[in-house]
Amino acid sequence: MSAAIRPRVPLSVRLGAVVVAAAVAAASCGAREPAPPADEEPASEVEAMMRRFAPVEIAADISHLPDNEVQALGEIIEAAEVMDGLFLEQVWAGSPSQLVRLAADRTPEGMATLHYFLINKGPWSRLDDNEPFLDRGVPPKPPQANYYPADATREEVERWFDSLGGEARRQATGFFSVIRRDASGGLTAVPYNVHYRSALAIAAEHLRRAASLTTQPSLRRYLELRADAFLSNDYYDSDIAWMELDASIEPTIGPYETYEDEWFSFKAAFEAFVTIRDDAETAKLERFGAELQGLEDTLPIDARYRNPQLGGLAPIRVVNVVFTAGDANSGVQTAAFNLPNDERVTAEKGAKRTMLKNVQEAKFQNVLRPIAEVALAEADRERVSFDAFFTHILMHELMHGLGPHHVHGSQRTVREALTDANSALEEAKADISGLWALQQLADRGVIEPEIARSMYVTFLASAFRSIRFGINEAHGKGVAVQLNYLLDRGAVVVRDDGTFAVVDDAIAGAVADLTRDIMTMQATGDRDAAVELLGTLGVVRPEVQRVLDRLTDVPVDIEPLFATAKEVLHR
Ligand code: ZN
Repeated sequence: MSAAIRPRVPLSVRLGAVVVAAAVAAASCGAREPAPPADEEPASEVEAMMRRFAPVEIAADISHLPDNEVQALGEIIEAAEVMDGLFLEQVWAGSPSQLVRLAADRTPEGMATLHYFLINKGPWSRLDDNEPFLDRGVPPKPPQANYYPADATREEVERWFDSLGGEARRQATGFFSVIRRDASGGLTAVPYNVHYRSALAIAAEHLRRAASLTTQPSLRRYLELRADAFLSNDYYDSDIAWMELDASIEPTIGPYETYEDEWFSFKAAFEAFVTIRDDAETAKLERFGAELQGLEDTLPIDARYRNPQLGGLAPIRVVNVVFTAGDANSGVQTAAFNLPNDERVTAEKGAKRTMLKNVQEAKFQNVLRPIAEVALAEADRERVSFDAFFTHILMHELMHGLGPHHVHGSQRTVREALTDANSALEEAKADISGLWALQQLADRGVIEPEIARSMYVTFLASAFRSIRFGINEAHGKGVAVQLNYLLDRGAVVVRDDGTFAVVDDAIAGAVADLTRDIMTMQATGDRDAAVELLGTLGVVRPEVQRVLDRLTDVPVDIEPLFATAKEVLHR
């Protein structure tokens, strides 16, 4: 990929990312002053929008890291900071000038606007269908972001793609290039290592310093190869090294997700997750891994639909966040991710699932607990626990690997058979069978019985959180199906005061039955039954809506304040 096309890129464009990084650094000190107490009326509209993100200190235990590793961590954080500026520029070419203007405005409203700009990484509110919250000179959010020329149309770019062949087409439609106009007004692909050269050189320098500080070989290898990739634009080797990481520090840095490219989903956005591996949870995962075949062998479905020989597990990491940047820190915070996206790497190595435990806990304390206060009957509220919440999330991920993946007696995958009904049903399967599995493990003495006692009420509270985000996507719809099924089975009831309660005697049976129903639809490839289930149960019923209506003061998500990163950088 290093056979780079080298058009003349104006100096100002190349420096843009650095300008942005400097503006963010200058602005963020003032912008991160503590928010006024939540019981005061918000002073402005933007202040009210911002209150939906509860500011939370995100910390990770680094006391077990030797000095050299902490220093390496500091260098990695500094490399990650560069991703903020790069991402801001990727979202919108107008970001640098708006940021400079906002940073100079020291009025309370100006500072709030800057703060909300940094939360959203741009002047559009991601929670509100990208409605602009800054009026001066802000257009609607460009669906092509800053990946394609502002004056181009989707059709023009598509026609140009179609006119290309071979390597030129691969470059133009690849993850790691932006499309710009050349001197004659035609379109041309500019590789990231050219377009973002100066900023990437700074990030690479920090990664190299980190590599020289760490004594962990797999970490050093990833850092060196990723630094090379920033300069060569060839990310393959460093993606492989990332899959092979086995170190106390687990960084993920570079261009990854393609959601900001709403035209084609081709172009990768810069981001960083700087994390510390959670050894206790990693050990728990290993313990669960040893139980999976035993769980498969007793799934509550017809014995012929069970898989006598489960395949290898996709790797799962549990980590705690020290710092995130760029795409990873825009709008609603990422709680888990699957990477890499490059099919050449996943074909060879698979993908790695990374769970961000302290981010999940922050969401649990600041969003889920307040939801439980509103949604659950009083006796159930005190049983809600983070341990149950997180253990169920781990089990959800593992259960994606269990149950039927092919239609019984055929080569057809369940995905092919169920088509558009597949995703929501598969998510519901992972949730409900995760509860089933944890009950089995508690019955067998593999996990503490307290988790099984608290997981049902915890799941019930989290159902409202998922449905609140909408039932148009797979997770929310799948959760609505489960909640309504449990209501119809009398395993969850609505009290006179509108709160919801788990019926202890009925819940385990209903959970096993729904696990059976869903997995049987998958085993038989019964799309009609799946569509019927999603259509009748994947809805928001009035009693659920009444609870949602009472959640207006509960934060939607968190705004991370990176306490450990600050401590590391100021040592
Ligand atoms: Zn899932």
